[in-house]
Amino acid sequence: MEVLLESEQIQSRIRELAAAIERDYPPGEEIHLVCVLKGGFMFMADLIRAMTGTRVTLDFIAVSSYAHSTRSSGEVRMLKDLDTGLEGRNVIIVEDIVDTGLTLTYLQDILRARAPKTLRTACLLSKPSRRLVDVAVEYVGFTIEDRFVVGYGLDYAEKYRNLAHIAVLDGQ
Ligand code: 5GP
Repeated sequence: MEVLLESEQIQSRIRELAAAIERDYPPGEEIHLVCVLKGGFMFMADLIRAMTGTRVTLDFIAVSSYAHSTRSSGEVRMLKDLDTGLEGRNVIIVEDIVDTGLTLTYLQDILRARAPKTLRTACLLSKPSRRLVDVAVEYVGFTIEDRFVVGYGLDYAEKYRNLAHIAVLDGQ
């Protein structure tokens, strides 16, 4: 498989993202990271370790898009909800990739309804050419072309999540 992003590139960009996040919040503010499973787990793990100067709490949410036929409707199924509430907290959604933007729009809508103090989003990857809805993403790791990628948390049929780099899956 063609390597799109080497492990070192990913790690160095994540350090930059962590620094940008830490600059954007007033000193002493606690940040609550919401990791979107499963794809976001590796990004989340590296991002929080790079946020050395911030009090961080975290939680996990899992969603899945319905079958392709209904995907354009933006219907998303909640597989696992958060363990704790968001009221008054500085929340950052941590996602692997924004493609059409439908999943993220759904997530932002349901989390915003829980009255966080602030709500932002960090995505490791973004494919702007695929966007169907305009969705705000404050922290983007890498903008990529419309190619199907795996590795670093991202799967194809549950495989390749363990790769430390990001690769293009041929034929997808
Ligand atoms: P969206 O709702 O933005 O279209 O879809 C986002 C989700 O689609 C991501 O969280 C991810 O699960 C999946 N996805 C989109 N593009 C890719 C890709 O290139 N590779 C992988 N493995 N998943 C992708």
